[in-house]
Amino acid sequence: MMLLRLSSLRLILPGMICLFALLVVVGSFYSGRSNILKETAETQEQVMRDRLSLMQGAAQQFLRLNQPEHVRSMVANISSELGLVSFIVVSPKGQVIASNSFIEVGWDWQSLLIQPDAVLVQEVLKGRSISTTFGDNNTQLDGYSSLCMTSEKQLGKQDCGFIFYRINMRYHYVKATQALQSQAIFIVAGVIASVIGLLVLVDLLITSRIERLVVVLKHYAKGDRGIRSNLRGHDELGAMGRTIDTMLATLEADEKLIMEKEERLETLFQAVADPIITIDQHGLITHANKATERLFGYRVVELMGQNISILMPESGAQGHDEQLSEYKGKEQSFVVGVSQDLMGRKKDGRIFPIEMTVTEMRQHGECMFTGIIRDITERKQLEANLLSVNEKLKISAHTDSLTGLANRRKFDLAVVDELNRATRSATPLSLLMCDIDYFKNYNDSFGHQAGDDCLQQIAGVMRELFTRSGDLPCRYGGEEFAIILADVPPEEAKNMAELLLKKIAQLSIKSAEASPYGIVTASIGYATYQPCSVVPLSTEAFINKADEALYKAKEAGRNRVEGGPISVQMSVNKSTSTEPV
Ligand code: GH3
Ligand code: MG
Ligand code: MG
Repeated sequence: MMLLRLSSLRLILPGMICLFALLVVVGSFYSGRSNILKETAETQEQVMRDRLSLMQGAAQQFLRLNQPEHVRSMVANISSELGLVSFIVVSPKGQVIASNSFIEVGWDWQSLLIQPDAVLVQEVLKGRSISTTFGDNNTQLDGYSSLCMTSEKQLGKQDCGFIFYRINMRYHYVKATQALQSQAIFIVAGVIASVIGLLVLVDLLITSRIERLVVVLKHYAKGDRGIRSNLRGHDELGAMGRTIDTMLATLEADEKLIMEKEERLETLFQAVADPIITIDQHGLITHANKATERLFGYRVVELMGQNISILMPESGAQGHDEQLSEYKGKEQSFVVGVSQDLMGRKKDGRIFPIEMTVTEMRQHGECMFTGIIRDITERKQLEANLLSVNEKLKISAHTDSLTGLANRRKFDLAVVDELNRATRSATPLSLLMCDIDYFKNYNDSFGHQAGDDCLQQIAGVMRELFTRSGDLPCRYGGEEFAIILADVPPEEAKNMAELLLKKIAQLSIKSAEASPYGIVTASIGYATYQPCSVVPLSTEAFINKADEALYKAKEAGRNRVEGGPISVQMSVNKSTSTEPV
C-alpha cells in the first residue's frame, strides 16, 4: 500500500529528479540539434570545396593530356559516396564527359534533368573559380568548379568546361541527428540508471526508515507497547529513531505506573461498601462498583451506558435529564456536594430510600458526576418507629388509661389554653365538674372491678355526648370528671350538664344501697367564663368556681346540676389579681 502511494517519497523524489533530468536532456537535444545541423552544413560545404579543388586540378591535368577515361574513373570513384545526387564533368564544348550516371555522358549539360544553375556556371567560368551554394531550402548543396584546358593567359570562354557536384544534405542531416539521438539515448539511459540508483538509495536511507517509524508509532497507538524502531546510523533519521524509542520506553513506563495506580483505585472503588456511580453529562452511566450490584440488583455490565433514571422511581426520573442540562450552564448547583435523601428503584421495581452525595469532575472538557449512595431504609424505618413511639408516648401522656379520656395533665394544659383563647376571642368558656354519687359505697358493695366498669361506661357516655372540636371531657381524678366546653354560654352548659345526668341515668347501673335513687347518678357543678375585660381569669379561680357549684349540688341532695356564669372585672388596685364575681 505504502509503495503505491503517490505521495510516497519513493516516487516523489526520484520522479522529480527524473523529470528534471528529462527536461534537461530534451532541452539540450533540441538546442544541440540546430547547432549540429549548422555544423554539418558548414563541414559538408568545406568538404565539397576541398574535393572540387582537388578534382579541378586532377581533371584539368587529365584533359590536358587528353585522357578523359581517367576523369571518368575518378568520377566513378566518387559515385560511391553516400548522399551524392549528381557529379558531372562538362567539357569546354558543353558536353558531359563524365558523370556518376553513365547515361548522361555525351549529353549537352543544359539538357540534363538536374539543371545546374546557368548563371552560377557563367560566374565560375568567368572567374575560373570554385563556388558552392545551398538550394531547395538547404536540403541540397551544389558545387561548381571551372575546368580550363589552356594556360591562364590563353584562357577563353570556349576553352573551359566545369564540374558540377550536388549532394543531398538531408542524408547528412539525418546522419548527424542520428548521432545526436544515440547520444541523447545514452544520456537518458544514464539518467534512468542514476534515478534507479537514487531510488534504491532514497529507499534504503530515507523512505524505508521513515516507514519503519510510521509503523512503530501506529503499532504503539494500537497497543503494542513493546515495539521499537531500532533504527541505526548517525544521520538525522537514526537520531530521530533513537529519540522515538526513548520516548516510547518512557511512555510505556509512565503508562504502567498509571495503570498500577488505576488498578489500586479500581480495587478500592470495588471494595467500597457504598454504591458509587459515575454518569456523563447526558445522564448515561459510565462506571459503577460492585456495591451498586448488591443494592440495586442490576449487574454492572447491564448498567453501563444506561440512563441513571433506570435507578430512580418514575417521579424522580421525570425531568432528571432536563435538570442535568440546566445544570451544565451553571457555575454552582444546590445538588453537587450536598447529601440528599432520595428514593431509588431496584431491578425488581422495589422503591427504597437512599442518601446520595454528588461530586462533579471534568474529563476532556465534559462534565462527569459521581454519586455516592447509601441505603437508608433502616434509618428511615428507625425514624418512622421513633416517630410513632413519640406519638404514642404523647398520646398516652395525655390519656387516662382506664377510661381513654384526656387525663388530668391534658386538662391542666387545655384549661389554660382555652381560658387564654376565650379571653382573646371574647367568647364564653364553660367548665363542668362531674362527680359520681356514693361511689365509695358502690365500690364497697360491688367491688373495685365493677367500680372500674362503671367509670368506663360513664366515660363512654361523655365521649358520645361531647363531640364538638371545642369539647374536651377529661378524667379529673378518681370518680371525678371535668368537661371543658369552648364557646358555650351558661344556658347551654347547664343543658349539656343535665343531658349528661340524663344519659348516665339511662345507663341504669344499679347503685349501692346508700343511694336513694337506686341507680348510679352523678352531681355536676358548672361555671361559665364570660370575658368582659382584657385581663384573663386565673385557672384556679375558674376551677374553684365549678368545684364550688359541684359542692352545692352535693349538698342539695346529689343527682343535680348547680352553677352559673362568672364574669371578671378589672380590680381597682392593679397590684392585686382579678377576682371572680
Ligand atoms: P360522694 O357522693 O360525696 O361523692 O361520695 P363518694 O363516696 O362518691 O365520695 P368519696 O370521695 O368518699 O369516695 C370516692 C371513691 O371513689 C373512693 C374510691 O374507692 C373510689 N375510686 C376512686 N378512684 C377509683 C377507681 O379508679 N376505681 C374504682 N373502682 N374506684 C375508685
Ligand atoms: Mg369524689
Ligand atoms: Mg363521689
